[in-house]
Amino acid sequence: MNAGAGAEKIVVVGSLNIDTFLFVSDFPIPGETVSAKELLLRAGGKGFNQSVAAAKAGGDVVFIGAIGEQEYQFEAILSANNASSAGLVRKTGPTGQAFIEVDKQGENRIVVVPGANALLAPEDLSPLQGLSNQPNVVVLSLNEIPEKTQEEAFKIAHFHGWTTVLNVAPARKISELLINLTRILICNRSEAEFFLGMEIEDPSTIHEEVKQLLMRGPEILIITLGALGAILYTRDQVIRADSFHVDAIDTTGAGDAFCGGFVAELSRSKNVVQSMNYGVAAGALATTRIGPSDASASHYEIEELLKSSGRV
Ligand code: ADP
Repeated sequence: MNAGAGAEKIVVVGSLNIDTFLFVSDFPIPGETVSAKELLLRAGGKGFNQSVAAAKAGGDVVFIGAIGEQEYQFEAILSANNASSAGLVRKTGPTGQAFIEVDKQGENRIVVVPGANALLAPEDLSPLQGLSNQPNVVVLSLNEIPEKTQEEAFKIAHFHGWTTVLNVAPARKISELLINLTRILICNRSEAEFFLGMEIEDPSTIHEEVKQLLMRGPEILIITLGALGAILYTRDQVIRADSFHVDAIDTTGAGDAFCGGFVAELSRSKNVVQSMNYGVAAGALATTRIGPSDASASHYEIEELLKSSGRV
């Protein structure tokens, strides 16, 4: 599905990784060697997964990211989903990689090689400069990309008056400048706890604390709540979106599917509450399939789920 007339472009600036899943019975102890029962290679990285999710949800997506010397199917996957890889730059050194060991209990341990992601420089943001002056949405997540590149992306977006969406994942301290340039913050519950510096027992009772955060720049905070859906805060309102009852088999990547779906719908409707509902449906559908980017749902599937529950 192509983005409809009036839809804004979505530019995702973020990481890409080759994910190597190693399925073992038990994790090796130090000094021990074990054989993997299965090996799976997948294209991943938060920025890449969000790009694919947004494109599958019908968004007009440009991905800006860095690839190193190990090739993988990033361009082919973006192109198969009608997303542009015009912002993919090549660096010397390794491609970002994640080695994910999964044991028989389903527990995982992950080693990440930031590789080329850490080399994505402000100069690599030229596809942003080349965009027309019409409204656009620029999306960032926190991992592996240098902070000065993230700040530059939002400075350009801010200069043009584009919507800036920051997925504060994984949780880490971020600069005041980045928060200040953000219009919409998205995080999951544990990231919100890190960011607000408090435990969240009941998300509907933290409006005062959230307002303090919103004083620092953003207009909106959305916290995703797993099976409970999501909650959106502005300075004067708190709005909840329930999730859907689905047979969840793998919740990896639900947050990326939420973000991708949210920005795709935002680029069309410009309505944040409608976009949160759409993101919740996209997140729920992603949990019914295995994998990160390949688990994200199409616009048609998301619309069907929303219709079946009377939410459109
Ligand atoms: P993350 O993957 O970043 O931890 P969440 O677990 O909050 O993010 O999930 C993101 C979204 O995916 C939620 O807002 C919800 O819509 C959907 N989701 C996640 N887990 C489930 C589930 N078990 N059942 C239904 N929807 C889910």
